Amino acid sequence: MAQYHPSEDLLAGYASGAVDEQTEALIAAHLTFCPACRRMVTEHEAIAGALLERESAPSASVAGVAAILNASPSRAPSTFNEPPLGTLSKIAPQPLARYVYEKTGEADTEGLNWTFYGPGIKRAILVGDEKGALVRLIKAEPGAVFPDHGHGSDELTLVLTGAYRDQTGRYATGDVQCAPAELSHQPIVEDDGVCFAFVVSEKPANPKNITAKIVQRLIGR
Ligand SMILES: [Zn+2]
Repeated sequence: MAQYHPSEDLLAGYASGAVDEQTEALIAAHLTFCPACRRMVTEHEAIAGALLERESAPSASVAGVAAILNASPSRAPSTFNEPPLGTLSKIAPQPLARYVYEKTGEADTEGLNWTFYGPGIKRAILVGDEKGALVRLIKAEPGAVFPDHGHGSDELTLVLTGAYRDQTGRYATGDVQCAPAELSHQPIVEDDGVCFAFVVSEKPANPKNITAKIVQRLIGR
């Protein structure tokens, strides 16, 4: 059972489609570990759906839109071919493995573009911009000590396998560390196996396409 969770604001943002795709992938993966957050997201989705219904004309209710989309022959089939997720699926829940595959075209962890980050530690940048890495996977051997580092922005880390510890706590499989920009830390990997982690540097929420995402989520289940 996960001990550390995304904030309720983030879960609400996820439920309403207001988070970016990397945060969405991270939270979707956390939800596979965490019944408590799944319940909270369901509640927020219900609220978002009710708001959408109230703000829309009666003929454009969620149920109405869903019915139209379901009836449309041009709609993509709801069961699309899943990518061939190889060893990625051994370390990452399906929503995250699919995201990594979409970003890299790699189905196996070995195929990712790993670079040296410290003794016993490698990282693969999945998404970056002129300011640096926004999204990356970390692979750290048991006992590895990270370089002491700060953060340019808030950062979310989802532990996929193994565990690490810093001055704020011990983070194990399924846990999400929400590190504020001002945190300076030096995580140490515990001895229970290789630690894979998915790390997202937070950017401001992107509210575009909220309505489309809510509808997509409501009809997608
Ligand atoms: Zn949770």
